[in-house]
Amino acid sequence: MNRSELTFFLLGKKYGFDLKKMLKFVNDNQYWNEERIYNYQLAQLKKLINHIYTSVPYYHKVMEDIGMQPEDFKDIKDLKAFPVINKQTIRDNFDLFLAEDYKQYHPMQRSTGGTTGIPFKYFIDTYSWCLNWATKMRTFSWGNYTFGKDKIAVLKGGSMYRKGKYSPKTYLWNYLNNYYTIPIMNLTNEMMDIHFKQVKHKKIRYMRGYPSSIYTFANYLKSRLITYPMKSIFTTAEMLYPYQRKVIEDVFETGIIDAYGCGDGMAGANQCELRNKYHINIETSYMEILSLDYKNEVKPGDEGIIVVTSLHDYAMPFIRYAPGDMAIQGKGPCPCGRGLPVLEKIIGRSSDLFKLANGRILNGLSIPFEEWADKIEKFQLIQEEPDLIILKLIPKDNYTEKDESQIMDLLEYNAGEGIRIQIEKVKNLEFTSAGKFKYVISKVPQ
Ligand SMILES: [Zn+2]
Repeated sequence: MNRSELTFFLLGKKYGFDLKKMLKFVNDNQYWNEERIYNYQLAQLKKLINHIYTSVPYYHKVMEDIGMQPEDFKDIKDLKAFPVINKQTIRDNFDLFLAEDYKQYHPMQRSTGGTTGIPFKYFIDTYSWCLNWATKMRTFSWGNYTFGKDKIAVLKGGSMYRKGKYSPKTYLWNYLNNYYTIPIMNLTNEMMDIHFKQVKHKKIRYMRGYPSSIYTFANYLKSRLITYPMKSIFTTAEMLYPYQRKVIEDVFETGIIDAYGCGDGMAGANQCELRNKYHINIETSYMEILSLDYKNEVKPGDEGIIVVTSLHDYAMPFIRYAPGDMAIQGKGPCPCGRGLPVLEKIIGRSSDLFKLANGRILNGLSIPFEEWADKIEKFQLIQEEPDLIILKLIPKDNYTEKDESQIMDLLEYNAGEGIRIQIEKVKNLEFTSAGKFKYVISKVPQ
């Protein structure tokens, strides 16, 4: 048992559950068939529905309103009677979402920045957090990485990094998990040289972080004609563009395993070693991909809104919660043979959709800027007004007038009639406070 596994094991002991069993459980059931997955999720949902009816004021009222008693819940389809909720619903009814007995689930308080910048607070059960962590360990094992045993470079954001320092708790966590952290708020060439020397010196063969920051690091090494063999790279939390994947995979001579994670819904979906489809973690949540009006489940291959129901959060249960993310519904199983249901692709946040004055809905993340990956350092597409889109970009030396007019054509074509497009060359583009980079921002209220 390495120090990461030991920490995990002790944490479980403290709260009365066995994390070794949990790990075995998630590793075994990645090969479950559809029926077994259905039965497992139905059993969890039945328990949860019973709990929310008796102990969660918000849901007691919802169930009264829709005329449902716990014993009426017989099929996962019955979940569709519940309204879809979002961050605002929870903010407006925070106390009503808390179970009367919430303390007994050892709730851990969490918060996210949220797209509007208003912090979003919520509680997760310790059990749920641990099960989610076990599914993370499973995913990392798909890239042959073992938590705690293998050293990993972690490119980390700002929410844990204050005044040039991490908190003592973060330092301890980093030590226990054998992390070498690279703060991404400060990725200057000089710092990247220092970190790269350390990566070589410590013989680190794994890396994880946001696509934009790993890309910045890889692109810098590329400009210095450096390659360095890694065993696996893990990305999450942002759109991973094909041009980023290419540079990162060329420089580090290995493939990227990309993941989608939603901490507020305890949901996750991860690529396997085939680096194609995203396998849904069936243990922690039930996931639906719904049409934009939330009425129907979309067909395989179509894009829709991710809606999740966390299966093990009893302190503050969210039923049919839309975290604001979009995905393409899976078409058939992954050739790797795992039974977990899949998504084809994660396509960004629903707040990234531009609802234009001419009636079109434009997904800013889907505009193919790849062609200019060698000529543009970074870009950001902003919907300023219903009929105004601004592209801010940091040009490289080889960026020409011709490129600009081609990009203008591309944007005009995608936006359609009556939409004004402006291109602004800038020197710098800001990260969010958590260190993520937003390629697309809509300032128009949705
Ligand atoms: Zn697979």
